[in-house]
Amino acid sequence: MINPDYFILWDVDATLLTTGGIGGEVMRAAMEQVFGGTLPRERTFYSGKTDRQIILDAYPEISPEALPDYLDHFTAVYVAEFERRTPDLRARTRLLPGVAELLPLLHGRVAQAPLTGNIAPIAERKLAIAGLLDYLDFAAGAYGNDDHDRARLLPLAVQRATHFYGRNFAPEQVVIVGDTPNDIRCGKQSGARTVAVATGPYTLEELAAHAPDALLPDLHNHVAVLQAIFVSGQ
Ligand SMILES: [Mg+2]
Repeated sequence: MINPDYFILWDVDATLLTTGGIGGEVMRAAMEQVFGGTLPRERTFYSGKTDRQIILDAYPEISPEALPDYLDHFTAVYVAEFERRTPDLRARTRLLPGVAELLPLLHGRVAQAPLTGNIAPIAERKLAIAGLLDYLDFAAGAYGNDDHDRARLLPLAVQRATHFYGRNFAPEQVVIVGDTPNDIRCGKQSGARTVAVATGPYTLEELAAHAPDALLPDLHNHVAVLQAIFVSGQ
């Protein structure tokens, strides 16, 4: 069933792993240190968005054009805060059901990389703590520092994959797996296949309203997951 011509793009938070809320605390602390204010706590304010989009939504006075000027400083503060909280992150990070077996199963048989709203140094650290970095081609992925619009990350990842693997992927050979309507939208805009998992803040019913190509409660049932990823027309 596994098709070696596919390129799978995995969302990170609430799709592959959970940090037990510590990741969100670190992001909020970094934003409050750099930009001030007190930020909302609701998960849906953050989930499915790029870090750049979260900043733009939290601080409307910052324009998308001006944001890149703040990114180096923000990244330095965010990484320092992440390092400071690393013992907590190590203690609280868990893989979501099925992930521990699924990524090694696909590794080496199919191209797979992260597509996440996390800025790259944070994505790399979270995946390292979770023990997943060895299974994903980090250089072929796209990250929250690349653009504020998640939908633009997919073409960027495909471009990086072309370079990294030395081959092209047609839109129908690209699969996005994620836990939010934004993940589904991101895949659809580029004509990719979309697989939604209800392991984040959105229920199966809420995700179904966005018409993903396949919908799963979690990644626990590998037969169902492989069908969702590789079998079209479900
Ligand atoms: Mg997510």
